[in-house]
Amino acid sequence: MSSRLARLLRVGEHFLRSDRGGAFPSSCLILLLISFACVFPLGCTADPVQAGEFDGHSAFEILEKQCSFGPRVPGTNEHRMCREYLVGILKQYADRVEVQSFEVMIRGELLPLSNIIAYFGSEEQPEWLLSAHWDSRPTADRDPDPAKRSQPILGANDGASGVAVLLELARIFHEVPPNRSLIIVLFDGEDYGPKSDAMFLGAKYFARHLDENKAKYGILLDMVGDKQLTLPIEQNSYKAAPALVDYIWDTAQKFRFTAFERRVGYSISDDHLPLIQAGIPTVDIIDFDYPYWHTSADTPDKCSATSLYVVGQVVLSVVYGR
Ligand SMILES: [Zn+2]
Repeated sequence: MSSRLARLLRVGEHFLRSDRGGAFPSSCLILLLISFACVFPLGCTADPVQAGEFDGHSAFEILEKQCSFGPRVPGTNEHRMCREYLVGILKQYADRVEVQSFEVMIRGELLPLSNIIAYFGSEEQPEWLLSAHWDSRPTADRDPDPAKRSQPILGANDGASGVAVLLELARIFHEVPPNRSLIIVLFDGEDYGPKSDAMFLGAKYFARHLDENKAKYGILLDMVGDKQLTLPIEQNSYKAAPALVDYIWDTAQKFRFTAFERRVGYSISDDHLPLIQAGIPTVDIIDFDYPYWHTSADTPDKCSATSLYVVGQVVLSVVYGR
């Protein structure tokens, strides 16, 4: 059953519930609704109705799969294996996938990094740049147990959640191509650290190598899988792209997704800053109230399919609706 028909039947049920034995029998109403749906089948334009629902469970499986490799710390075998997995999935869905490999000298060592870029539609000037980081932090420096602070984190929420939403979106973009072209970029080296001079490495490299065909708008997803999802407006995003912030939070409000809170929250340094500086107004959708942030407890059980669904459905509607 198409989602439009399902919606019409839900409307029908509402009428049936309020039908108190009037002159219009329930069965006639259902027939009328079915005929309406048949006479006005789904049109040719790509819209959120046609694109269907975002599948939070499918996204959650992608989150778990990334974590199954172990911590994705640059330079490790787990990192390489996860990169192959992500590239393989995106190649199934995108028109073209590019691995932007580069090295950065950190504390006297060359760190091998790869941004993964997936193109959907014309590459001339993408409307959207949707991004997340796919690496995970080498140190659980906020862990309550000092013995664990030198260990790498699994990054279920801090890393894997944003990527999971984007890969599930990629599947939908493949099935119902949006009217405007877009790119998905999975940044590497966001969380290397421990300080900000060794963070956002992939986004900085990507921003330095942009050509004149840079995307018009950007959305960054980071830490969007927390079971207790709270998404206030991030300050730098609001300064750089107030209209886009309003559009995203309005869209969430239409869905009655209360996780998107209409208040200005933290000012956060993240991968959106190099993009904003390079001229792509980018909004960071981020839940920074996550008690397991940069600890060994950032594991899939702290995340939920529902949270991924809430964020995925909003981004889906924004991309198809704008
Ligand atoms: Zn982090």
